[in-house]
Amino acid sequence: MLLRAPDYFDRFHCIADKCPRNCCVGWEVVVDNDTAAYFAGVPGPFGDRLRAGLTVDGEGERCFVRQNRRCPFLDGRNLCEIYQVLGEEHTSRTCRLHPRFTEDYGSVRETSLSASCPVAADLLLGSEERLTFPATGELEAGECWTDAWEPLLFACRERALAILQTRSLPIRTRFTWFLLFSNEVQSALDEEQTEGLQDLCEAYGDLPEELPALELTGPGLFPAALKTLERLEILEEDWLPLLRAAEAAPRRKLPDWMLERMAAYFVFRDFCKAVRDGDLLSRAEFAVLAPLCVEHLSAAGIAPQEALYRFCREIEHDPDNLAALQTAFCEDPALGLRAFFWQLAND
Ligand code: SF4
Repeated sequence: MLLRAPDYFDRFHCIADKCPRNCCVGWEVVVDNDTAAYFAGVPGPFGDRLRAGLTVDGEGERCFVRQNRRCPFLDGRNLCEIYQVLGEEHTSRTCRLHPRFTEDYGSVRETSLSASCPVAADLLLGSEERLTFPATGELEAGECWTDAWEPLLFACRERALAILQTRSLPIRTRFTWFLLFSNEVQSALDEEQTEGLQDLCEAYGDLPEELPALELTGPGLFPAALKTLERLEILEEDWLPLLRAAEAAPRRKLPDWMLERMAAYFVFRDFCKAVRDGDLLSRAEFAVLAPLCVEHLSAAGIAPQEALYRFCREIEHDPDNLAALQTAFCEDPALGLRAFFWQLAND
């Protein structure tokens, strides 16, 4: 099996009670079968508390009963009681793995660190270098992809990352080239023209400084994008005031390397998931919209790292919000490709 992860992956350590946004507050914590089976046999009052702390959510998943939005086993010092009493190995799988998320593509396993975690966001924005995704292990004889499209999408993702990391060009030019490329890949996917994808990757190998003439129709993505985020599901009560402050704040630009690293993170996490539903373009649009939103949020007076983990907690980590944005990219002209091009040309 081939394993791939971002280059900062091994430097992650949870800071537990020092965390400014604890992942045991707000979100539902799912409890897997093995952990629940272990809980069933824990004797004494703590065992009784464990069993009483479980419920089943609306989708039939077993989870902890939250109290004031908190996991019932998060103590007054924001430390996990299950970890302290039973040991880390008896916390639920969700607790042990978060913020690590794994995707399997045949015999390739990719693991990322969700930037909804403040430590992961710090690591992502803690270097100006190009973000890399080193691989370990190798594909053995007989190991293979699960879908014939997967190796093609991986090649397209390599090219997409190379476009985003072409530092001889300004980041907004790179974003535009990246969207143009993604749009062409999407057309090829729609028409099942897989044989043309390799040529397409090569055609975008040497980017000219000048963009092609594009049909630019205003008024661009902002503030429409922030207003769209206001209408989505909300996790934390201070999110809406932050969005409104970002709308009113004077423009603040973040360095190109920061926008580049954020976009590369989203492309690594999402691009190849198009193999499941054929929708690559909206994932590319999200990879551009997210850093631009972080730029606007940080204009409201918070550090870019905080803006990033706040955005990811509210949007990237919520499948319903992601699906709503995917639909908006397709159906709402205010978030359409032309609005992206206009914004990137006029920022
Ligand atoms: S959000 Fe990150 S640092 Fe904070 S408690 Fe969760 S895993 Fe630890």
